[in-house]
Amino acid sequence: MARKDAIEKLRLTLRKRRDALIRSAIGDLSLLQDRPSKTGDVLDAVADTVQSELNSQLLEVESRELQAIDEAIERLDQGNYGDCEGCSKPIPLTRLRAVPYARECIECHRLAEKRKSHPAAMLNRVFESYQADTA
Ligand SMILES: [Zn+2]
Repeated sequence: MARKDAIEKLRLTLRKRRDALIRSAIGDLSLLQDRPSKTGDVLDAVADTVQSELNSQLLEVESRELQAIDEAIERLDQGNYGDCEGCSKPIPLTRLRAVPYARECIECHRLAEKRKSHPAAMLNRVFESYQADTA
């Protein structure tokens, strides 16, 4: 199959994944909002808090993926989908099929991960989360 056809197929994959994510995110949101304020058991309250914490974390992951998918669809429309942002070579279809919103080929992705786990970068992340906690 030509790369172009394969990429058009991936567009469908992205759209389907996008729909599923939106439906699931709406579900999470309504769970977060529909929680009645119970005056009952303390344990119930704790369970509720934990559940809503889990839901909001899930929601965050979903919204991040949703954003990645939106950007991938944008790149599809602009015609630069599937080009690595690191080395500008075409990202292999096997990788795109596994991660349809990948922006980098696996080599560039690994390089980026390595940079992220560099001690200086890790220190930066710790600092950022500390700031977020105290904000
Ligand atoms: Zn690359």
